[in-house]
Amino acid sequence: MVELSQAAAGLLRKGFAGDTLNTAWYARACLPGDWSVDYCTALGDDAMSDEMVAFFNEAGIGTTSIRRIKGKAPGLYMISLKDGERSFSYWRDNSAARQLAADADFLRQAIEGADVVYFSGITLAILSRDDADTLLSEARRAKASGKLVAFDPNIRPRLWSGYDEMHATISEGARAASLVLPSFEDEALHFGDVSIEATIHRYRALGVRDVVVKNGADGITLDFDGEETFVPAERVEQVVDTTSAGDSFNGAFIAHYLEAKDAPASARFAAKVAARVVSEHGALVAKDKLGV
Ligand code: ADP
Repeated sequence: MVELSQAAAGLLRKGFAGDTLNTAWYARACLPGDWSVDYCTALGDDAMSDEMVAFFNEAGIGTTSIRRIKGKAPGLYMISLKDGERSFSYWRDNSAARQLAADADFLRQAIEGADVVYFSGITLAILSRDDADTLLSEARRAKASGKLVAFDPNIRPRLWSGYDEMHATISEGARAASLVLPSFEDEALHFGDVSIEATIHRYRALGVRDVVVKNGADGITLDFDGEETFVPAERVEQVVDTTSAGDSFNGAFIAHYLEAKDAPASARFAAKVAARVVSEHGALVAKDKLGV
């Protein structure tokens, strides 16, 4: 999405962000150059979409899996600051990204061309029911073929028409994944989980092999390869902006895991990256500030 934030009185700064884009950004920053990271989405044919494609290319994020749709434009949100509190306004009902799974052949090609697939509850929430089914069936195919399919439930009730639909579709997303990376605060609030164990148990019962539960400053609990491990969060001097904490953790975790195949070590690495991210402003923190 296009992000507008206050630069000065009466002046807005433009940036690009969004949960899956943030994760792609951090995966790119943390992976060696012989890995390619592609962002699969839909954009329009307007100048802003062109700028986004140029921005992704500049960041080293591949754009061949981006479908361009005539007459469409990207979604937009604005961050407003009042008395130090951030609030968000959205213009995304008609965004191109809502069509990202509308061309089933295009989506299949993109997923078949990848070794690892990542999507989120927000991805599912913005799609029509039919398109969500298309994405889910491609994710299931990728999982069945032995690929790492990672899913962050990223629960945003505002994006769903009701709790039943949200619970059912997020559970389907998890079922289609081999690795689920939930944030405990969201899961407790929206699924009623009484403990981290309950979150792990619920996702394992859906057929998820590996679960990594993030819990802000209270650390990470992994149920990985059938073994449970706790990894503490990094100590942060001053939390400046928690935007993208979970997304950066996911990108860094997957990147490290693909190379090291050691889940607890990957969680320690990702906790370090996320700690840097919450110490800086904005969703996309530059690689040279991440210590990777
Ligand atoms: P989300 O942003 O999805 O809600 P969390 O708040 O659980 O996710 O944060 C994701 C990760 O970011 C945590 O697992 C932790 O490693 C790191 N993190 C978040 N907040 C802090 C904090 N205050 N201090 C240190 N690390 C943090």
